[in-house]
Amino acid sequence: DAPLAPAATRTTCPYCGVGCGVLATPDGLGGATIAGDGEHPTNRGRLCSKGSALGETLGLGHRVLHPLKRNAAGGYDRVSWDAALDAVANGFRAIIDRDGPQAAAFYLSGQLLTEDYYIANKLMKGFIGSPHVDTNSRLCMSSTVAAQRRVFGSDTVPGAYEDFDSADLIVLVGSNTAWCHPILFRRMQDNRRERGARLVVLDPRVTATAEDADMVMALKPGSDAALFAGLLVHLTDRGLVDRSYVVRHVAGFDETLANAREIAPDVTSVSDATGLPAEQIAAFYELWASTPHVVTAWSQGVNQSAQGTDKVAAILNCHLATGRIGRPGSGPFSLTGQPNAMGGREVGGLANMLAAHMGYAPDEIDRIRRFWQAPNIARREGLKAVQMLDAVADGRIRALWVMATNPAVSLPNADKVSAALAGLDLFIVSENVLSNDTLEARPHYILPAAAWGEKDGTVTNSERRISRQRAFLPLPGEAKPDWWIIGEVAKRLGFSEAFAYAGPHEIYAEHAALSAFENDGTRDFDIGAHAGLDRAGYDGLRPVQWPAPSRQPGGTDRLFGDGGFFGPERRAQMRPLAAPKLAAQTSEDFPLLLNTGRVRDHWHSMTRTGFSPRLSAHIAEPSVSVNPADIARFGLAEGGFARLASIHGTAILRVVADGGVAEGAAFAPIHWSGETASDARIGALTQPLCDPFSGQPEMKATPV
Ligand code: SF4
Repeated sequence: DAPLAPAATRTTCPYCGVGCGVLATPDGLGGATIAGDGEHPTNRGRLCSKGSALGETLGLGHRVLHPLKRNAAGGYDRVSWDAALDAVANGFRAIIDRDGPQAAAFYLSGQLLTEDYYIANKLMKGFIGSPHVDTNSRLCMSSTVAAQRRVFGSDTVPGAYEDFDSADLIVLVGSNTAWCHPILFRRMQDNRRERGARLVVLDPRVTATAEDADMVMALKPGSDAALFAGLLVHLTDRGLVDRSYVVRHVAGFDETLANAREIAPDVTSVSDATGLPAEQIAAFYELWASTPHVVTAWSQGVNQSAQGTDKVAAILNCHLATGRIGRPGSGPFSLTGQPNAMGGREVGGLANMLAAHMGYAPDEIDRIRRFWQAPNIARREGLKAVQMLDAVADGRIRALWVMATNPAVSLPNADKVSAALAGLDLFIVSENVLSNDTLEARPHYILPAAAWGEKDGTVTNSERRISRQRAFLPLPGEAKPDWWIIGEVAKRLGFSEAFAYAGPHEIYAEHAALSAFENDGTRDFDIGAHAGLDRAGYDGLRPVQWPAPSRQPGGTDRLFGDGGFFGPERRAQMRPLAAPKLAAQTSEDFPLLLNTGRVRDHWHSMTRTGFSPRLSAHIAEPSVSVNPADIARFGLAEGGFARLASIHGTAILRVVADGGVAEGAAFAPIHWSGETASDARIGALTQPLCDPFSGQPEMKATPV
């Protein structure tokens, strides 16, 4: 190890899925100085604006520090932990006894650590017996999960960040990487500067990422799959299909190609579908075809779509057909949004998954039941986020525990979500902060959860790299780690033996042991090398890419370069696509198509970044970006205000003229809330129209 300054703690940034290593040194005043960890292979000492400002977000003025119980007047009284935990357990018990386990649900978060996520899933899916555990990762990358499971037979990211260093062509699809994954983008820029790699950016909106691109393709919303179907046709017609790889490792090529020829028979048809010039499409196809070391990476512009699973599959199909996968500098790559969306997937945080990447096949259910000695294992998939809140609204779910997320601002049709939460018989929130939109729905109990810097655990980044988050500050007030809170409720529900963990290291070791349990290499997620970790081993855990089975403790940088998929006969399955189209069309009343996303210096609903004046100075207020032609068309004033309305709700936003937004479109950041019903909550506008495979809602194309 490099020498550290006295008292510096190695930990991981809590923001995006890049997963940068951080050195935190407490200042003795409750804060800390922050630096990039030069030893972490992800960032090699670099941090972006958000990561480097972490020290400015550590104050306690905005924190929940004690368990709180709602009183008859709608205010809150401080109660003891014992009283709160007894009430939560008794409340769940009463509703389960009355309405059955299916009336209970957890809504979790990619902000949770893997150990928190694991124990929550174990309690609900193994012991209470309800499958209804879902997570805000449903809004983030569940379409990638669905596509990878359909195509690879497993939810496996094949590549490594090193591929962005060694690719000759990087294609970014629906991703403002420069702002949303800044440190990874800097690695791409290094590659461009040092090796001359080329960069193509596919995005309906021309963003900061496009400023550094060789080719910017502002395609029509919803047309991504048509573009990649056309690429598959082009690769085939150019004789560039890797027949040897396909014959040995891939099924479904002929049907998928026939489907692609229907969707995108030629460049002219792709031009019609995408709105891109035929010459540009032809140039892109030829560049991709002639560059063996190509990485195609995507983010929410692909995932947050009612056809997100097919869009991802369209990209995977092209890489499989050419064998450009799992090889240095070459492969498809999903850029994760949240710091631990991947860790949540690994422990079964999604409603359609069980722990250790297992699903609801009978043998998988039985394996987990035996490993946990679970008395009441869930036997069918649970409700995904949007469906879960529908079930809250119509009374099928009566008890909900929300942890580390703010669904009243982030879920689509957020006004309906707020009303549904307020009507629950038992509504529990575990939180860091005293005020957010979800707390406005007045939960019965607010449980003070430990924040970043105060608790120990692990997170997994976009390249499957597990890193430790380590505590460097004392727990403030009566705040407790989420794993402890969940475990105490489990014990009060009568499951003491199965939840008697001395610390997160024991939870992680159990999670690792489950990943290796009856796993003869037929399941992708295996960290059996960590199954025997004790506290010292856990504390010293170095960043490692899974799979890390006991025979390969150093981990695995890439998979599938020589096949070894997890589908039938260890093959991948190329997938035909539905005809590309938008879930909802503009009309005379709703003539603009609203796109949503992040700004550079804020994260989620700003419950952390909002406390840094430096970060708030970049973009200080909520806004809607509109093409100058539409400013004139709708009689708006640049710098004035506009009221946006969809069929679901409204928001009032500052008008920004932006030539990077196409005519007929609008773009609004997701971060802000508001004091009144007509505020800046973009979730109030967006529509709950979901992908049929993933359940991920369409957040990028709402008619307004
Ligand atoms: Fe944190 Fe992401 Fe920035 Fe890295 S790139 S410092 S993980 S916000």
